[in-house]
Amino acid sequence: MRRRLAGGRLVIATHNAGKLVEMTELLAPYGIETVSAGTLGLPEPEETGWMFAQNAALKAHAAARASGLPALADDSGLCVDALDGAPGLFTADWAGKPRDFGAAMARVVAELAKRDVEPARWRAHFVSALVLAWPDGHEELFEGRVHGLCVWPPRGAAGFGYDPMFLPDGHGRTFGEMSAEEKHGIPADGSQGLSHRARAFQLLAAACLDRP
Ligand code: IMP
Repeated sequence: MRRRLAGGRLVIATHNAGKLVEMTELLAPYGIETVSAGTLGLPEPEETGWMFAQNAALKAHAAARASGLPALADDSGLCVDALDGAPGLFTADWAGKPRDFGAAMARVVAELAKRDVEPARWRAHFVSALVLAWPDGHEELFEGRVHGLCVWPPRGAAGFGYDPMFLPDGHGRTFGEMSAEEKHGIPADGSQGLSHRARAFQLLAAACLDRP
């Protein structure tokens, strides 16, 4: 049986500013008081899993244990078909430290060029695994995906990470050219949201959240 979130505070277990904005916006209609892992001074656990779901679980359980509160974590990435799914779990790592997503996006294109892949075949998808964990060790997992094409040069300055190089199927603008509402808003008519995170969140909301 799914466990529902019963009021109180929820930790958003991320140190990524872009994800924090999106997750806070997604949770806003549910009247849940949120606090970020950064605000609580929680450390960033090492992401040692070999699947998005495992890394999301590592982050959510670490935050729930350390804070004594339920915690929501996202592990996500961009998987490029012609690169055998890379950068995948290493999507953040390709940006180096300090993070440089301009360089990370350029690396995707350089790797595609190395393999002589023509731009029409730059197919990719974003994945988001969301784990809601409680201090007693219970967890709920949800996953969302969005398919599309990588484009070059990057287009738009909205969003974060690889947004400016991702053109979702059926759309003429990249995530970097879309408003927050278009990228990860939840349609009022119950239809599917666009981004991987919006799609994972819709499943989570249906299973675990109640509107006030
Ligand atoms: P991690 O989940 O912390 O390992 O990092 C995932 C990385 O994937 C982020 O640092 C972003 O670069 C990228 N990413 C995840 N979701 C999105 C998105 O919605 N737009 C653009 N990039 C994303």
